[in-house]
Amino acid sequence: MLNPSHSIKRRGLMLVLSSPSGAGKSTLARMLLTDKEELDLSLSISVTTRPRRASEIDGVHYHFISVREFERRRDNDELIEWAEVHGNFYGTPREAAENALADGQDMLFDIDWQGAQQLQDKMKGDVVSIFILPPSMADLKQRLHRRAEDTEEVIEMRLRNARNEIERWRSYDYVIVNEDLDKAFHQVVSIVTAERLRRDRCPGLFDFVSSLLDEKLD
Ligand code: GDP
Ligand code: ADP
Ligand code: 5GP
Repeated sequence: MLNPSHSIKRRGLMLVLSSPSGAGKSTLARMLLTDKEELDLSLSISVTTRPRRASEIDGVHYHFISVREFERRRDNDELIEWAEVHGNFYGTPREAAENALADGQDMLFDIDWQGAQQLQDKMKGDVVSIFILPPSMADLKQRLHRRAEDTEEVIEMRLRNARNEIERWRSYDYVIVNEDLDKAFHQVVSIVTAERLRRDRCPGLFDFVSSLLDEKLD
């Protein structure tokens, strides 16, 4: 039985997740990527000039590069978007993302609001954007401390920047409050499922419906 949503070739979609630091974006991204069989999402691995955290692996979480190398890639148009966030540079490598999308592979982008805006401007119909909010500012603070990956000074800066980030919530397609992690995860999965079924994402539907109408019954 032909299932149009699975067998009809379509362009990949760009799932953009943003949030103030500590709201749970990376945790949700990890869960989405672990669900490989079901969701089959791949991560766009950003380049960054931020120092690597103890828990991070170069080439898996980020490509850690120098400011000089970042500037070279940016000036050479190798990044689809880039931004300065919390005092470091971050950017999305163009080639990997464009190849994946052309191949029908859906990609996850863990990027800030500046990057989300650039992708929305440049790649319009391909982008589905989700903003993750913490249940309260107190929770956000507690999570940043519990994560214990950044210095006190960095945590303070990220908390100060959180308000500015939160104010951007209106420019996203969907907003999720990450209070209960499983619930937030299922909400993101529902969004991906629905967006994959959108008529305008499935150009092959045209042929499918034509063949359906041409089908001769005994
Ligand atoms: P965390 O996500 O808050 O744990 O912190 P990170 O250091 O991983 O990310 C810092 C900020 O940079 C976040 O707001 C990310 O969404 C953003 N970011 C990460 N990668 C990119 C990128 O490729 N482009 C842009 N524009 N922002 C990025
Ligand atoms: P971000 O990527 O948005 O900066 P993280 O995914 O690193 O945030 O999450 C920050 C901390 O909060 C982590 O220690 C994570 O385990 C924890 N966390 C994430 N979601 C929840 C939740 N729903 N309830 C409690 N703690 C959470
Ligand atoms: P962290 O330093 O905690 O890994 O990331 C800080 C912020 O940078 C997060 O909000 C993350 O989403 C954002 N970020 C990571 N990679 C990129 C990127 O390639 N582009 C943009 N615009 N933001 C990014």
